Amino acid sequence: MALVVMKFGGSSVADADKIKLVASRVVEKKKAGNKAVVVVSAPGDTTDQLFAMAQNITSNPPDRELDMLLATGEMISISLLSMAINFMGQKAISLTGPQAGIIADTSYTKARIKKVNPKKIKAMLAKDNIVVVAGFQALNAKGDITTLGRGGSDLTAVALAAQVHADFCEIYSDVEGVFTTDPRVVKDARKIEYISYDEMLELAGSGAQVLQSRSVEIAKKFGVEIHSRSTFSQNPGTIITSEENIRRKNMEALLVSGIAFDKNQVKFTIIDLPDIPGIAAKIFSRLAKVGVNVDMIIQSAAVNKKNDISFTVSKQELKKTQIELDKLAQELKASQVICDEHVSKISVVGIGMKSNAGVAGKMFEILHKKGINIEMISTSEIKISCIIDERDLTIALEELHKGFGLSKK
Ligand code: ADP
Ligand code: ASP
Ligand code: MG
Repeated sequence: MALVVMKFGGSSVADADKIKLVASRVVEKKKAGNKAVVVVSAPGDTTDQLFAMAQNITSNPPDRELDMLLATGEMISISLLSMAINFMGQKAISLTGPQAGIIADTSYTKARIKKVNPKKIKAMLAKDNIVVVAGFQALNAKGDITTLGRGGSDLTAVALAAQVHADFCEIYSDVEGVFTTDPRVVKDARKIEYISYDEMLELAGSGAQVLQSRSVEIAKKFGVEIHSRSTFSQNPGTIITSEENIRRKNMEALLVSGIAFDKNQVKFTIIDLPDIPGIAAKIFSRLAKVGVNVDMIIQSAAVNKKNDISFTVSKQELKKTQIELDKLAQELKASQVICDEHVSKISVVGIGMKSNAGVAGKMFEILHKKGINIEMISTSEIKISCIIDERDLTIALEELHKGFGLSKK
């Protein structure tokens, strides 16, 4: 008998038929002799619709009230799913995040889980219940409901799996697992059998939506094995585990395991900044203060004691960034601030890069052959990212996917 956490995303609980299908998969797991904790997201686009409802009232809703609203989406799913499981003859009980003992810090809309008190879940499991928990929501020290950031139900599932000592955590979505790139964009993408936490972390952080990156971080920290699978098929999915586990299975590390992309980027350039110490510190600490997360940064070489700095932020932070940069440009006597909304980031990821120096050169060569201009570059031990014109994204993705031998044979 295993204890399994099963998480179903919004596309899996989008309507009554899908909720019944999810219920049957959960019941199947229970009847096979397992105990199950089930985490669900809000149905379909509910979270987006709730956001839109708030925007219809005000463009700047108080974060506490926004969280109160957003948390309602997941409550629709837990109650309906529990009803469906009960109807199929198994005992099920729904719990909100706070009822399930998920405690977060005091920030709203992007709260971080501080601890999980699984007492109630364990008691319910002991009474032979299937426990259905609302993803994405938690309770803070003020007694308020908070939410964990977009895609946060993955995080709820992994955090619960760690605390109840589940044998593994299954994350069900509308794709059969983690693919070499988004299978909706590149038809030739292949399902990956095993992938290490570190590679998955880089892919998720670079835009591969299939798993939320903080959930992978927590999985790595607590050694939770994640199985990424499809709600709509019985095929085996992808196992996300440690590099050592993968090596033990004699799987050879590929040079590149996957390619991710992010269309949600904006590039800012500040022209003619004074080339003196403290300028970068001033710009980026001011942006941090207003809550802007900066991704890639480059600084040009100085000419006539002046240089330019370019960096990227996510599209949601465009307005905040623009307002702050206009003030900074005046203070620092820069000549201009340019904003380019038509860029995308493309990233190749693989642990094989650790021992092979040729990957960056090969990536640049593949892009060059298609006449694609690279606007910015950043690297980590196992990832190379480039900012390119968004119009070049699809071709870049297809060519890199082919060029690194990831396409179906
Ligand atoms: P859910 O609503 O179930 O949480 P998501 O929409 O968050 O599901 O994640 C699944 C989607 O992730 C897929 O529909 C697919 O388009 C996208 N995706 C992006 N990159 C990848 C990848 N490398 N492998 C699989 N799916 C990916
Ligand atoms: N419903 C939330 C969202 O859409 C959380 C999740 O789906 O994981 O982001
Ligand atoms: Mg998701």
